[in-house]
Amino acid sequence: MTDQKVDDLKIQTLGEKARVEIQGLRPYQPGKPIDELAREFGLNASDIVKLASNENPIGPSTKAIAAMEKEARELTRYPDGNGFDLKQALCQKLTTDTVVIKPENVTLGNGSSDILDFIVKCFVARGDEVVFSQHAFAIYGLVTKIQGGECKVVPAKNYGHDLIAMAAAITNKTRLVFVTNPNNPTGTWLTQTDIENFMAKVPSNVVVVLDEAYFEYVNETDYCDGLTLLAAYPNLVITRTFSKAYGLAALRVGYGISAPEIADLMNRVRPPFNVNSFALAAAIATLSDDDYVAESKAVNDTGMVYLTQSFDVLGLPYIPSVGNFISFEIPVVDGSAVNANVINASIVNERLLAMGVIIRPIANYEMPNHLRVSIGTQTENETFIAALAKILTAANS
Ligand SMILES: *Cc1c(COP(=O)(O)O)cnc(C)c1O
Repeated sequence: MTDQKVDDLKIQTLGEKARVEIQGLRPYQPGKPIDELAREFGLNASDIVKLASNENPIGPSTKAIAAMEKEARELTRYPDGNGFDLKQALCQKLTTDTVVIKPENVTLGNGSSDILDFIVKCFVARGDEVVFSQHAFAIYGLVTKIQGGECKVVPAKNYGHDLIAMAAAITNKTRLVFVTNPNNPTGTWLTQTDIENFMAKVPSNVVVVLDEAYFEYVNETDYCDGLTLLAAYPNLVITRTFSKAYGLAALRVGYGISAPEIADLMNRVRPPFNVNSFALAAAIATLSDDDYVAESKAVNDTGMVYLTQSFDVLGLPYIPSVGNFISFEIPVVDGSAVNANVINASIVNERLLAMGVIIRPIANYEMPNHLRVSIGTQTENETFIAALAKILTAANS
């Protein structure tokens, strides 16, 4: 046997030695990076429009950049492992006349995905059930399976969460429920009444994670602010992030707000120094930059109107969204009329890529006929719509 073959054999054997929970997993599929598409199609990276990961299109807050430049001089030091200053800033920001948030309610994460992972590690053992909705964020299933938990996926209603069915899906094996508000990739949202009625039905020994990654974008007056329910429900964890409206996706920083008892548990599984010093400094700086968040929202609101009007003009159905993204449908044409020009969501996606436009196919969310596009700047949105219109026109001719 050659050395190479011996090595291959060793690798195969090690793969089989991995925990069975890991053997069947597939890595999380992120949006295609700009440089990767540029290499694949021989395009100029600067000509590519990426609307695939719900990133903030206006660039980071200048205050965040200044804070990071200052922090660069302290690179030899470990970051503050307790994130004291960021926790203080969050408490100040989130405390209102009716809601008091203290540092002991806060857990900091390397992105809010980190918090989702901690909460599953704290509560889910092999065979325990975790309830979440069909078409919900892919990370829930991934972190649950890594722990050996069982995913109980509840069918969606009009693409949104069916909270009545989700409450009914809870059994004595259920440890955790994920509720996403608004949901990604559908953009659907739940009202204060929806969530209050749901929480009233959930047993107090089942933890509910309310993922509010897009909280800052929502304009609906009846939208649920999870923080208002914390005092009544010690089994509630709210997760939010600096990756979206705060424009710091690359730095990886998010947080959980919960009763101190749950925060204490999460801190036991949290890796030391999980949030780096650039992320801490930039998050504090952006948190106080109200103009930046207001501008991000304004760009999003304008872009949402432009995209939905354009889909109407193009005759493409879409799911009304309150986030910074929208999922639209490429209706399936009857396959029996086999026609060289027949297209579907996957073909549209491929053709957009060839034209330098990256959006997100969501077949892995059981939505094979939909594509999700993040709201970009007006120029990016126009580039996307022009490319889409061209593809549809070519297909119809
Ligand atoms: C983007 C997103 C997150 C946040 O991810 P980070 O790890 O904070 O970057 C969490 N939940 C949902 C539903 C999301 O779409």
